Amino acid sequence: MEDEEREKLFEAGKIAARIMEEGIEKIEEGAKLLDLANFVEREIEARGAKPAFPVNISVNYIAAHYSPQAWDESVFKKGDLVKLDIGVHVDGYIADIARSTIVGGGGSTEQNDLNKLIEASKKALDNAIKVIKPGIKTNEVGEVIENTIKKMGFMPISNLTGHKLARWNLHSGTVIPNIKTRHGDTINEGDVYAIEPFATDGFGRVVDDPNAIIFRYLEDRPLRMKEARDILKYVRENYKTLPFAERWISGLVPRFRLNHALRQLAHTKAIYSYHILKEKNRGIVSQAEHTVIVTESGCEITTVG
Ligand code: MN
Ligand code: MN
Repeated sequence: MEDEEREKLFEAGKIAARIMEEGIEKIEEGAKLLDLANFVEREIEARGAKPAFPVNISVNYIAAHYSPQAWDESVFKKGDLVKLDIGVHVDGYIADIARSTIVGGGGSTEQNDLNKLIEASKKALDNAIKVIKPGIKTNEVGEVIENTIKKMGFMPISNLTGHKLARWNLHSGTVIPNIKTRHGDTINEGDVYAIEPFATDGFGRVVDDPNAIIFRYLEDRPLRMKEARDILKYVRENYKTLPFAERWISGLVPRFRLNHALRQLAHTKAIYSYHILKEKNRGIVSQAEHTVIVTESGCEITTVG
């Protein structure tokens, strides 16, 4: 890997890690999810970087892909388990980091169980990072994650995975499963991976909610609706192949046309929809994530302050 690439990966990682620290502090009873999202994304830009994807703030049985909408009034409630997932890129070089927390901290027995659930995904991440080195297979890492979470009495989410990162590409093919799968790919020196165990007290799978508020540009398509054409041009120029939030484009077109335009874009496959993902049995979900560069003998974490 070129020195310049490394520097940009670590620069993105440092920014993401520091904003994570500050963002987690803002998760308290009564605080608006929208205010946290705006804080995180403004801070990323203030530090000279860009969001690699809309900040994900997923609560309780929502596992991922929730990002507050432009007119979102929802607030954190005491006892909520919140996953904050932040993506930063510097010149297309991506850092992806996530952490979980409980609103109002520990206390009751129920919250102690939630703390244990948070600990399970964190420990699974630590153990995965310990075993990653050139030559190991992705499904061997998955086995470590699965065993760690199950030993603590929870289930890993089997259909969410870590992922290889490339420049301007958040999911560049190879995945790191959160369970022991039958097949695995070999991990090589110089590879960049986001590792993200999810643990739950539910079934251990996520299902799509019908709604999507995060999208990604796919390709130019003929579109009847002017607003849809405007949105497509804007997202292609501004976010390229990286995901964007409904919130980021809400000012482009009248509010009453926004959903229709997005539906048309998704329907014609001009954009991809990331559906909100919820736990199959409405189990509570925790997540921990770091981005690593695979080295000769192990890996280095980029997402540290
Ligand atoms: Mn993430
Ligand atoms: Mn990720």
